Amino acid sequence: MTRFGVLALQGDFAAHLAALRGLGLEAVEVRRCRQIEGLSGLVLPGGESTTLLNLMSDEPWFETLRGFHGEGGALFGTCAGAILLAREVRGSSQRSLGLLDAAIQRNAYGRQVDSFEVTIEAPLLGAGLPAVFIRAPRFVALGPEVEVLAWHGEEPVLVRQGRLLAATFHPEIAGESRLHRLFADLATRRQPVLA
Ligand code: GLN
Repeated sequence: MTRFGVLALQGDFAAHLAALRGLGLEAVEVRRCRQIEGLSGLVLPGGESTTLLNLMSDEPWFETLRGFHGEGGALFGTCAGAILLAREVRGSSQRSLGLLDAAIQRNAYGRQVDSFEVTIEAPLLGAGLPAVFIRAPRFVALGPEVEVLAWHGEEPVLVRQGRLLAATFHPEIAGESRLHRLFADLATRRQPVLA
């Protein structure tokens, strides 16, 4: 059976576990690098990327996550997790994994609209998708291999590149699991949803 993990160092990992388990998938908390062994996919949840990076300095997470992806593992980054995946983080000199060919700007919506909930259009996933944005980042540049799967107005908010999925919002808060289903399909290379 395929198994999924959620990076559980910081942030909204519990809701991601619930979403995956709600789909009948086996999902475990990942707190140590060695727990990645044998997973098909790993969720990098939202939270605070700088705090997350501090916590990640205790173990060789960068090598482990890059190796996991290089060997066929799928990664789903939401909000701070998407920042971690990106090639370039604007407005900050923090490290990132550089796996997703995208530039991302942290805290890009300014103070007045710090957090908001909207319905976004994700044609692949059927009717509108409820999306919660919390001090969210914005994709400011996307490489040629990056496919946009959902938009909020003119903004790409959900993208895919191979076995990488990245959202600038929190899908797990709205009790939404269509994205987790999509991720599971990507991770197990079942392609119907992305045909
Ligand atoms: N503002 C956070 C950061 O820059 C991301 C917020 C979130 O994950 N909800 O890392």
